[in-house]
Amino acid sequence: MPTDFRYNTGDTAVPWAAVGENYNANDVMEVIRFLMQGEGKEYDEALKGVYDKIKDLDKISTPPGKLTTGRLVEEAEQLCNEYLNTDSSTFLTNATAGLELGYKYANLKAGDEVIVPAITFVATIAYPLSIGCKLVFADIDPKTINMDPKDVEKKITSKTKAIVPVHIGGYAVDMDPIMEIAKKYDLVVIEDAAHGFGGTYKGKKLGTIGHFGSYSFHEVKNITSFGEGGIAVSSIPGYGSEMKRARFLGLDFSAPIKNWLYNVSPISGKEGPFIAGNHSPTEIQALGLKLQIARNEEIIKARRVAAEYLNSRLSANDAIITQDLGTDDTKPTFHLYLLQIDPAKAGGDIQVLKQKLEEKGVTNIPHFGPLYRFKAVSDMGIDVDAAAASCPVCEEVFYKRFTHLPLYGLTKEQLDHMANAVLESVKEMQEGK
Ligand SMILES: *Cc1c(COP(=O)(O)O)cnc(C)c1O
Repeated sequence: MPTDFRYNTGDTAVPWAAVGENYNANDVMEVIRFLMQGEGKEYDEALKGVYDKIKDLDKISTPPGKLTTGRLVEEAEQLCNEYLNTDSSTFLTNATAGLELGYKYANLKAGDEVIVPAITFVATIAYPLSIGCKLVFADIDPKTINMDPKDVEKKITSKTKAIVPVHIGGYAVDMDPIMEIAKKYDLVVIEDAAHGFGGTYKGKKLGTIGHFGSYSFHEVKNITSFGEGGIAVSSIPGYGSEMKRARFLGLDFSAPIKNWLYNVSPISGKEGPFIAGNHSPTEIQALGLKLQIARNEEIIKARRVAAEYLNSRLSANDAIITQDLGTDDTKPTFHLYLLQIDPAKAGGDIQVLKQKLEEKGVTNIPHFGPLYRFKAVSDMGIDVDAAAASCPVCEEVFYKRFTHLPLYGLTKEQLDHMANAVLESVKEMQEGK
């Protein structure tokens, strides 16, 4: 990373800024107390032991000198570059900011059309919705609940500018046909890989196949950077340096400033320049990510084992459609367990099952649902009935067939509790109870 001229004050007697000098050992203790919570005598004693050890640091340590985007961000990006096989990794405040960057590259304006999956989280569409684009909903593949490429192609018009595949739960969208369609119609592909960090599609890392990819390290995702954070990547050759400038208002730190004027310039987009926002992450976020990247494979493996175990239990009832485990070259990240039922065989639909699961104490997580039914979307002039009619598979699968179960480091007891609850509930449904 080029030196940040605001701190690089050379031989001046009075540096421009000293950053982090107002933190001390007491504050570090608060951070420890927050990250490693506990109570009771044993905990208090252990904590006091830590304090006794670190309080001496007050006298002999120096502050970090940089708290926002700096060396640690660069190191985290380097680790991501190696892991994802790219040179463009750009650490941002969150994945929503990464998606925004891809959208801005596409030079979207009001009235342009963007094809998004019928089912995803609202973050996927926040930017096009905010500037008055027309969202066009692609129906889903019932097996994965991801965007169906065949329906994408049907919905392309002369106003289409971008396609946004979302790897829901960390299971790959069928990207080859999406990329073919994008090439044929000259469209920008922005992969929402919020759940997909480390997953693959035909040997390539999810997020690195489209023109842009965005990964989330929000606290509920597989790995986190202390609660918030995202990495954006681009497959456009050389675009990584533009993304670094797009992260912070278009400022360029690479050359010394002339005439005391900041070097600020627009970012190059597909059809013309655009103006950058501010999405700078902190060094602490980067530290949090660095610590977790190394564990990502292990974390995915543990989640796979949990998914395999649920499959082995749930396959006992043929009304239950278990999670697809992928193949050798198309590997999921197992962010969530996709539980589906065949309503005809189960003697009822997923609404009934969800009700029963909730009664049995199985987490009923807020659902990924049809976007066009969110008030923020329908109020922007979307005809909800027409959108629903254009996504019949989504309607059927959402209301009748699917729900998600969690897969994070669950204990055997927790997995058994979920499996028992699902099996008992489906049995009750089959017996008409
Ligand atoms: C979490 C999530 C996002 C947004 O990630 P942030 O890092 O919170 O901005 C985007 N898309 C999907 C599908 C998500 O689940």
